[in-house]
Amino acid sequence: QLTVEALQRWIINTNEKMQENKGYLSELDQAIGDGDHGHNMARGFQEVVNKIEGNSFEEAGSLFKQVAMTLISKVGGAAGPLYGTAFLKASDEWKEKTTIDQEALGKGMEAAIAGIKTRGKAQEGDKTMLDVWGPIHAYVTTQPLQREKLKKTAKEAMEKTKEMTAKKGRAAYFGERSAEHVDPGAYSSYLVFEALAESIT
Ligand code: ADP
Ligand code: MG
Ligand code: MG
Repeated sequence: QLTVEALQRWIINTNEKMQENKGYLSELDQAIGDGDHGHNMARGFQEVVNKIEGNSFEEAGSLFKQVAMTLISKVGGAAGPLYGTAFLKASDEWKEKTTIDQEALGKGMEAAIAGIKTRGKAQEGDKTMLDVWGPIHAYVTTQPLQREKLKKTAKEAMEKTKEMTAKKGRAAYFGERSAEHVDPGAYSSYLVFEALAESIT
């Protein structure tokens, strides 16, 4: 059970991780992209936190709508609008909910993933953020939610993107050369779910 406050802490914790890993995320993106992923994520989530910090939200839907709109409007590049779409779709699922249980989390993630796929035309296996979102969704819908297990699932999914060949986004221009590098968006997604895991009591 995640209260709206716990969800708000999830987002604030995500921002802290994006700031801490800003340099590393951009380093990953330098190898198979244009080197701005850390900058994009750090800027976007800082804007999000500026908007939500100090506010109290009655329900999860309005919190995530605010998160989504900020990411869509403030983050350049591919990942910002894709994350924004993900949170926007989740916010529709979570409208008027004051707590999110495991079932609601699974439904929100399902909607989020559908949104990412529609917007980005990617599938799992294309070496993108979806390769973390997919396995986390599978975990959330089939096993009891547990902090360390959630972290481990996210980490392993992120690491698996290393051997994949990119089919979408800038990394696809690198073709076979994209293998041997972790996907930057998969790494930032790992941070998102690591932060989520830390919100579970
Ligand atoms: P840009 O590539 O425009 O500079 P970022 O560097 O911020 O944007 O984000 C790159 C990340 O976005 C990739 O590592 C990948 O995970 C994700 N991404 C890019 N294109 C897609 C897509 N079509 N579908 C899903 N995720 C994508
Ligand atoms: Mg980039
Ligand atoms: Mg860019």
